[in-house]
Amino acid sequence: MFWKKLSGEHKLERAAPTSARPLDDADQALDTIASLLRSFGAGAFDLDELPAAETQAECESWAQRITVGSGHREGEEATDFRRDWGGLRRYFSAHRGRERDYVGRSFSSLREAVQTFARCMATAVSEDRSADDGVGEKLVRLADAFQTNDAGSIRKEAEGLADAVKVAIEHRKQRQDEHVAVLRDKIQKLKDELQQAREQAAIDPLTQLHNRASLDGHLERVSDLAFLLNSSPCLLMIDVDHFKKINDQFGHPMGDEVLRRIADALVRQFLRREDFVARYGGEEFVVVIPDSTLQNAKKRAERVREAIEALELSCAKGPLKVTISVGISSLTHGDTGKSWLARADAALYEAKADGRNAVRVAAFPRHSFASLRPASGT
Ligand code: GH3
Ligand code: MG
Ligand code: MG
Repeated sequence: MFWKKLSGEHKLERAAPTSARPLDDADQALDTIASLLRSFGAGAFDLDELPAAETQAECESWAQRITVGSGHREGEEATDFRRDWGGLRRYFSAHRGRERDYVGRSFSSLREAVQTFARCMATAVSEDRSADDGVGEKLVRLADAFQTNDAGSIRKEAEGLADAVKVAIEHRKQRQDEHVAVLRDKIQKLKDELQQAREQAAIDPLTQLHNRASLDGHLERVSDLAFLLNSSPCLLMIDVDHFKKINDQFGHPMGDEVLRRIADALVRQFLRREDFVARYGGEEFVVVIPDSTLQNAKKRAERVREAIEALELSCAKGPLKVTISVGISSLTHGDTGKSWLARADAALYEAKADGRNAVRVAAFPRHSFASLRPASGT
């Protein structure tokens, strides 16, 4: 057998035979072992503290030692072929042992990791009862597959578990969407109920007009706005004349009916969106006209007084007549809701004193010489 070492490189190449003697079986066996060693080295992988490159270098070294022999000197035909077959066997068996341990350890830690992961996933979706059943079943199958150490079936069962988890997550998302939709509807319903309650809290149940609390808030807003817009709001304080007698003669329910009919008549007379009609209390009503001269407010008050006088009311005891008295005041500088109302009330007192079924306009207070805007049409 003839070998030469390529100069400057570690690769060896078989020298061309000096005669036409064909390679015998032994030569071919050595060639094959060297080639197997190199293939093994090329396919080496990193082990604990042993990089693949190191294994490859070892294999190359063994390939050289097997083919050239340890006594070989360059340029000479090797005569002392002391090939260390025992050393090669020991090296291989030790290396395979390291590989087996490494793969075994890696597989075992991978198995633990997959098991932990699978358990975590199963726990994560376990809120969903129906999906939980599917995931639980897949988890059991995966645990069984781990007992077999068969990577194919572990993989198959792990994929099955992943699909079950995916379905569980989709179910959960669907249920969460449904919950959100239900909650949204509930919140909307509560909002509507709150709004309704708020509106009802501001409405007088008997007449369906704004109540006293609502009027107080409105007077504040109208006053603030009037000073900002330089508008001239007017307030009508309306009181039913001798209402006590109506109750006494026709009964309380009829008195209620009269209050409702008067409320309807007021709403019909003050139809504009900006007009505000409220039940002040008992048989007293207030109308706020946001921008009007006193003259025009008085005209509208007369109209409503006449409309109520003309109401045709009757009950079992026969027809009944009802009239109202009205006091009017215009908002002036320095007014509060209370002082504005008080002046209308004083004017109403005059109307009562003058025989009732009458409209009276309040004089301007001492602190003011005029309403916010002098009379000049509506
Ligand atoms: P005046 O012309 O001076 O205003 O006399 P009046 O009888 O209208 O006034 P008074 O204050 O003496 O009586 C008001 C009555 O209104 C007394 C009360 O029982 C009645 N009243 C108050 N609220 C209601 C109600 O909601 N329904 C009924 N039916 N009567 C009410
Ligand atoms: Mg009264
Ligand atoms: Mg009255």
